[in-house]
Amino acid sequence: MNRDVVRALKLTAIYLVAGTTWIIFSDAAIDWLTDDPRLILRLQTWKGSAFVAVTGLLVFSLSWRALARQSRLIARLEHYAYRHKLTGLPNRRLAEIRLEESLTRARRHRTGVGLISIDLDHFGDINDSFGHPVGNELLKAAAGRLRACCYESAILAHPSADEFLVIVPGITDREELLPVVQRIREELSPPFSASGISSVYLSACIGAAHFPGDASDSEHLLQYAEAALARAKHRGSNEFALFRLEMVERTRRQVELDARLRRALEQGELQMYYQPVVGGSDLEVVAFEALMRWFPSDGPPVPPSEFIPAAENSGLIVALGDWAIDQVCQQLAQWRREGQEDLVVGVNLSARQFAAGELPGVVAGALERYELPPSRLTLEITESLLMDQGRDGARVLEQLRGLGVSLALDDFGTGYSSLAYLRHLPVNELKIDRAFIESLDRADTNRALIEAIISLARIFGLTVVAEGVETDGQLSVLRELGCDRFQGYRFGRPLPAADIRVGGSAQSDQ
Ligand code: C2E
Ligand code: MG
Ligand code: MG
Repeated sequence: MNRDVVRALKLTAIYLVAGTTWIIFSDAAIDWLTDDPRLILRLQTWKGSAFVAVTGLLVFSLSWRALARQSRLIARLEHYAYRHKLTGLPNRRLAEIRLEESLTRARRHRTGVGLISIDLDHFGDINDSFGHPVGNELLKAAAGRLRACCYESAILAHPSADEFLVIVPGITDREELLPVVQRIREELSPPFSASGISSVYLSACIGAAHFPGDASDSEHLLQYAEAALARAKHRGSNEFALFRLEMVERTRRQVELDARLRRALEQGELQMYYQPVVGGSDLEVVAFEALMRWFPSDGPPVPPSEFIPAAENSGLIVALGDWAIDQVCQQLAQWRREGQEDLVVGVNLSARQFAAGELPGVVAGALERYELPPSRLTLEITESLLMDQGRDGARVLEQLRGLGVSLALDDFGTGYSSLAYLRHLPVNELKIDRAFIESLDRADTNRALIEAIISLARIFGLTVVAEGVETDGQLSVLRELGCDRFQGYRFGRPLPAADIRVGGSAQSDQ
């Protein structure tokens, strides 16, 4: 039986025994005291009143204790439901309620409310390197500092692990938020200390939005402060962004584009085009670069410069990249059946494909499926991709090289261009970015640079390909400088495989 029911039964039993005993003994005492019926009546009345007073006191003390227990329980439940368990600050639910209340007050007093969203930079790394207990200590310390720089009327909330919100009432103009943000940044900038660590520097990205300047209700105000924060985070660490309408429009466009692109992959709207790469003294086609094209059934073609970054942002590039590798290998097998056994095809890779970790398996699978010698496939990677991926990137590169495929460093010159770094990379080919080739036949500003790149590539035994060669002038300078291979409109634009006559010269499509 429930403990509370047992307790209630026990109390009732005690009450019944005590009450009956009291009646029996008090009546006996009155009988013993007097025979006067009027006095007996009066004594009985007092006795009754005393009984009512005692039981009243008893009922009061019992219900008071029960009520106190209940309100303690409610307070505890509320704490769990509305407070962050680490800092005790309002969580997202309570922050939303407080924001709604602030907006109601602001509407009544015709003022505004600022909402500041704060995200501590690289907090995951801090947790990973120092452990969660230290991470928690730092979060509490950060919350303490943020509390210190909030106005009296401002409300600090802790909606999720490393994210804080500040509701600032009485802000009539969005520019008034700037000093508050400045104070937050100043407060966070001195080093923090935690068990065993004397100084840890924390920084934060901050986004802010204003009611009624940006949004007219709490839901949108929250969404816009988050959008501003996302913009700040996109720029890097320790950044701040005040909401602008383009921010959500860009996100909306991105989401729409992503959905259309997913459909495009399923409904076969994507196609691989191939652009020739020529070499040797007679400039014959030695390779092709595979370039993705998107022809939506319901609109004009979308250029790769638009859909590739969108797919990279959403992660869809992994599926697109896998599809491209399969298509290219299938096409290579077809060309080999037509007698072009020496043809090489290059396919572009993105950072997200490296991070997904399945790339070597995908490449090996496609080579096996179409029974291709690995040396016929070149994977094009960019310097920034390698830099972003760090050691993991180098490991994936080694695995790819282990498969026997060639690796080309694409858009060389636009990234870090550390020539010394080249020595440590398992690449076979260097593709000089179009930007350097563009001005070659007009001025020789880039000539010395290209010359230096080519002579260094020689030392490391790399093949040099010039991208974006459009004119005879550019071609002759590049040949003079000793460039090995050329790619560009001068030799052919990207074309669908069906329009390419392999073994002959490439045609132009556009
Ligand atoms: P990229 O890999 O550097 O490809 C070369 C780009 O230069 C292609 O643009 C090509 O059409 C263009 N191009 C070639 N010759 C000339 C020329 O003489 N003049 C001019 N103005 N442009 C020339 P595209 O096809 O628009 O692709 C742009 C970028 O999109 C590519 O740069 C690559 O980074 C990315 N991309 C394309 N297809 C794929 C793909 O399948 N996967 C991934 N991850 N990225 C791709
Ligand atoms: Mg490329
Ligand atoms: Mg390129």
